[in-house]
Amino acid sequence: MWKHQYNQSLNQYLVIEPSKVVSIKNTHATKKRRQPIGTKAILCGCLIDGTGRPALNDVTIIVKGNKIAAVGKRNEVKVPEGAETIDATGKTVLPGLIDSHTHFLGMGYSLTHLQLIDARSIGEIKEGLRDYISTRKIGKGKWVQGRQWDDQNLKEGRYPTRHDLDEVSPDNPVALTRICGHMITLNTRALEACGITRTTPNPPGGVIDRDKHGEPTGVLRDARGLVTPHIPPPTHEELRQGIRDAVALAHSLGCTGVTDCSRPDESAPHLSTKPYIDAHRENDLHLRCHVMTWYPREWSGDQWLTLGTLKIGIDGSAGAQTALMFEPYSNNPATCGVYVGDQERNKRVVAEQHAKGGEVAIHAIGDRACSEALDRIEEALEAKPRPDHRYRIEHFEYPIDADIERARKLGVIASMQPNFVGEWAWPGGMYDIRVGPERLARGNPYRRLLDLGFHMPFGSDGMPFHPLYGLWSAVNHPQPGSRITLEEAVRCFTLEGAYVTREEAIKGSIERGKLADIAIFDGDLRGNWFKLGGTEPRAIEQQKAGIKRRRAWMTILDGEVVHKA
Ligand SMILES: [Zn+2]
Repeated sequence: MWKHQYNQSLNQYLVIEPSKVVSIKNTHATKKRRQPIGTKAILCGCLIDGTGRPALNDVTIIVKGNKIAAVGKRNEVKVPEGAETIDATGKTVLPGLIDSHTHFLGMGYSLTHLQLIDARSIGEIKEGLRDYISTRKIGKGKWVQGRQWDDQNLKEGRYPTRHDLDEVSPDNPVALTRICGHMITLNTRALEACGITRTTPNPPGGVIDRDKHGEPTGVLRDARGLVTPHIPPPTHEELRQGIRDAVALAHSLGCTGVTDCSRPDESAPHLSTKPYIDAHRENDLHLRCHVMTWYPREWSGDQWLTLGTLKIGIDGSAGAQTALMFEPYSNNPATCGVYVGDQERNKRVVAEQHAKGGEVAIHAIGDRACSEALDRIEEALEAKPRPDHRYRIEHFEYPIDADIERARKLGVIASMQPNFVGEWAWPGGMYDIRVGPERLARGNPYRRLLDLGFHMPFGSDGMPFHPLYGLWSAVNHPQPGSRITLEEAVRCFTLEGAYVTREEAIKGSIERGKLADIAIFDGDLRGNWFKLGGTEPRAIEQQKAGIKRRRAWMTILDGEVVHKA
């Protein structure tokens, strides 16, 4: 049903013009977007302008309406009379941060679900679940959804099972998603609701974990398709509210732009692109968004909403042991990961998208998946060369040398998530256990990719959604040889994020004439508080927790203050 509406509504008000940003006609707008007026003078302590050049001290930025009118040394820039002054001395001023890989709509919706990111034991998960059901007075039989448990943080060192959840929720179906999004634990009621029994075969590319008697344990890997259709979909209004909640969170983190990589029409048909399109149409979208789709389509949109990247997937995640590797997992020699895509469909849709002039994004984490993703892009470009494509590989974590070279030659964009290394790539951490020291050492090679001239937009994949933490992780990469400078990391979170959606001419850096999207953080990011304080696991954990608690001091979007601490 959604698919149908989706196509219909697109035809109604999208102007299609390949390979360039055009306007979405606002014929159905109920409200006119307010044009920002007035002048602001931002007196910067430290300015990192997004271009990658070294940070500057004592700079003044003049904002007129929604654009940057001037940037220069304090004594060279005249502050116009009547300008509102924003005193950011002692603070760090950046372009509004762009998170190039999120699952934004789903995150917004799930902000209302049980949050398990802080759970440190299965006992805490059970306690959280019990409280959630009772405080929200969730009726018998109603679904309960939770998210972001991470077995790496659980003192039991294992995945929660149906039996754990049954103890506190015998009457409600429960689905708790792991932090990677590739793994879910269901309780017995949920298994029943989804019709999963000992005789249910594994779905293509997925696994139903079973105990020694052959009974499902409740843990599913890359088998979301068995579950989602049985959970009542959120209403359209809930999704619209989800966007508003996620936008408010983004503003509080200094984030002014995102790409939603969910290809919602496939992996979560209840989400769809429609909530974005409706929000934009009603001038209720207060963030610059790019939304990927599952269908080949032309590039279209305006400075608030663009569409036109086809997303396909090759593998899963290292955490779920479904990232596709050439060699077996170090902790489980029985598996090299899982090919989750449909190779024939992938070939067909990439060719179709290439012909339409849209863009392609391919999820690939393991070395073998990266190779396969490059095969798809290479086939398309060899059949019909296209010099200014913005084809991207999402994650690109463990490419082998030959594939780094191939990607460089093809001009493929490495869309990467530095918070992954901040979370999991420390010695003895989850990546080390899964892939072993040799692959760990060559994983996520930011320094090398930048030196080779790669375009490298950064995103979070929502683990967690927090660009400042991503910046910290990139400059403090657990492999010292892969670290990049603060200015480079900022560029990856700003101008590179604009580049990948063909908007580098209008946003992504603090330069005259660009859109006035600006994030200001307390303190100087060049200070000791932002550098790795020690390599003891405890010291690392403490510093990470401190960075994750940080919010922006002020966020300006389109010339207007949208967040102030
Ligand atoms: Zn993702």
